[in-house]
Amino acid sequence: MAFRRTRIFRLIATATVALVIATMLTVARVFDLLFPSRHFPFNERYGIFSIYSDVPVDNPQRSALRDAENRLLRHYPNIRERYFNLYLCSKKELYELLAQQIGHSGASQGFHAHPLGRTFISTAFVKDIARRYGEGWQGTLLEGSLAHVVSHEIVHQLMAEAQGFIQSRQIARWKSEGYAEYISAFWSDTNKIAAIDSLRNRLHRYGHTLHPIRRHYIESQFIVAYLTEIRKMSLEQIFAIDKSRKALLLELLAAENNQ
Ligand SMILES: [Zn+2]
Repeated sequence: MAFRRTRIFRLIATATVALVIATMLTVARVFDLLFPSRHFPFNERYGIFSIYSDVPVDNPQRSALRDAENRLLRHYPNIRERYFNLYLCSKKELYELLAQQIGHSGASQGFHAHPLGRTFISTAFVKDIARRYGEGWQGTLLEGSLAHVVSHEIVHQLMAEAQGFIQSRQIARWKSEGYAEYISAFWSDTNKIAAIDSLRNRLHRYGHTLHPIRRHYIESQFIVAYLTEIRKMSLEQIFAIDKSRKALLLELLAAENNQ
């Protein structure tokens, strides 16, 4: 009996030690995501955002965040009383360190770490995108707009909260990315049909010149915008579509908007 008890005790002790080591390793791996404060000494509340930044926040950033807030409030009026944690990284290395800890590409404009409720933005990369693409791709992720990127990531947060983290991850990527892009881009457009036409023309002419991932975002944005604005479908209906993205895209690129 004593022997058995000793064996059970040893098993429990070994399992506990293994668990503690595994937890410590996990914490070490994502340490900066869990405890980002030391990298972001400049904090302030602005509108619906709690901003944390590695350099002082400037006025162009504040006005971009006001813009992001307006885009979001049009679709989510009930978030007015909330605060969203926003981490602005001006240093590329800092953003890369954080992105890598969550398994996200460092060559991106932003990401949302859902369980932590934190959104990280690479303000340097956003500026790079504006310089490289900017003008020709207004209203898309290639515009290089802080307002656009921040809205996009907060839409991910709100979708994950509404549907549950696991379920929101099961939605086809083109639907969730297309929706986040659609909300982030078309908010102030009084002529949405013209905006969709323009997006279709740009995809026809220059789509093939884009990196496949960027093209995927813009095509998905086009599909969701088209289904919402022209076909008058709700988000639930779009999420329930079982046609392939490719089939839908070909059909919608060929369709006329003025129907
Ligand atoms: Zn996204």
